[in-house]
Amino acid sequence: MSSTYVIIGAGLAGAKAAEALRDKGFDGRVVLLGDEHHRPYERPPLSKGILTGKAERESAFVHPESWYSDHDVDLRLGTRVTAVDRTAREVVLADGSRVGYAKLLLATGAEPRVLPGAENTVRLRRFGDTERLRQVLETGSKLAVVGAGWIGLEVASAARQAGLDVVVLEALELPLLPALGREAARVFADLHREHGVDLRLGVRVAEAGPDHVRLGDGERIDADAVLVGIGAVPNTALAEGAGLTVENGIQVDAHLHTSDPDIFAAGDVANAYHPSLGRHLRVEHWASALKQPAVAAAGMLGLEAVYDELPYFYTDQYDLGMEYTGLSDGYDRVVFRGDVEAREFIAFWLKDGKVVAGMNVNVWDVTDPIKDLIRSASTVDSARLADPSVPLTEVGAG
Ligand SMILES: Cc1cc2nc3c(=O)[nH]c(=O)nc-3n(C[C@H](O)[C@H](O)[C@H](O)COP(=O)(O)OP(=O)(O)OC[C@H]3O[C@@H](n4cnc5c(N)ncnc54)[C@H](O)[C@@H]3O)c2cc1C
Repeated sequence: MSSTYVIIGAGLAGAKAAEALRDKGFDGRVVLLGDEHHRPYERPPLSKGILTGKAERESAFVHPESWYSDHDVDLRLGTRVTAVDRTAREVVLADGSRVGYAKLLLATGAEPRVLPGAENTVRLRRFGDTERLRQVLETGSKLAVVGAGWIGLEVASAARQAGLDVVVLEALELPLLPALGREAARVFADLHREHGVDLRLGVRVAEAGPDHVRLGDGERIDADAVLVGIGAVPNTALAEGAGLTVENGIQVDAHLHTSDPDIFAAGDVANAYHPSLGRHLRVEHWASALKQPAVAAAGMLGLEAVYDELPYFYTDQYDLGMEYTGLSDGYDRVVFRGDVEAREFIAFWLKDGKVVAGMNVNVWDVTDPIKDLIRSASTVDSARLADPSVPLTEVGAG
């Protein structure tokens, strides 16, 4: 049997998996296959520092260029995998050649969802997309953004800071509504309006092209560019073709094992069973792409490991920085601690009196106590939870 471990997808998850295999002492062959032409890089700066010009592209790379040869990782860029042949235990490359594997990791990530008929608009996932947008920010005067999700709002923030007029078009009645719920989503609506964004909620985009958007009521909005940020879809084609279980991403257990004992999945593409939440969960979060690979690598090496981290996400928009921990699904109450108007607060989502998620806005170093509160699953006293003078470690009832 080949001692080659193959990783498909040279993004953050793929690069971290190669690193984890070497850290754990694997001395066989590691082949990391990616269809992009850049070595693995992190995507959050694409809608933040790199777009605003405050960060260099170099700062986004996961490893220095020499890391791959130093660690004997066979990084093949510009290499698209077209199929996984489970019978032969080989992956098939676009040029028809094959690479055999003993263990395989699928870290193929996700792609921005396409608005039907709007293929010529800008979507943001890769270095090239950011460069294109950056040019618009440097030379243009108006940007239209379809979708008030995280990426749309971060780009709106960057564009306003570059002095462009920005219109954001959202079908729902508030930005980020599915992620945050009504109470906290309002904060982001106010934030963008205060910074001069023409935020249009509850509108339908009937058509979008490279330089305009037409709304359902016939209004035409002209712009130097149109960014469409309406979510992402996991890259599951290889897994589907190979007959693996795919349901909202590649379904894996808590060890990140697919339905094939020799194949694992991690990062945006993985819909992983979460032991603490008691259900499968697929998130498109940097932190999962960073941390899941160590668990997958352990499994590839026959070691016991489980991925049980709470979901964690962050964003930066204007002078607002926030971190979000947990999952607010099914919450029945939101408690705020701090000054919401001044945008310096923590929001807690509660379900049956227990904290299920927390979002700290311009308040720092509280992720660990928020995680502890969620994990404790204990009923909290909401008055103490709302009171900034009570340490988070002491808000449990009784
Ligand atoms: C603009 C932007 C901003 C973001 N900001 C934040 C943020 O602020 N906070 C946060 O928590 N998360 C953020 N994210 C999400 C975060 O970047 C992702 O969760 C993370 O990139 C996922 O990493 P991944 O390795 O799983 O997938 P990816 O980064 O998508 O990497 C997968 C790689 O696999 C390649 N690939 C796919 N199919 C094949 C194939 N058949 N053959 C070869 N290669 C293939 C893809 O081209 C890609 O290079 C942001 C994402 C974007 C796009």
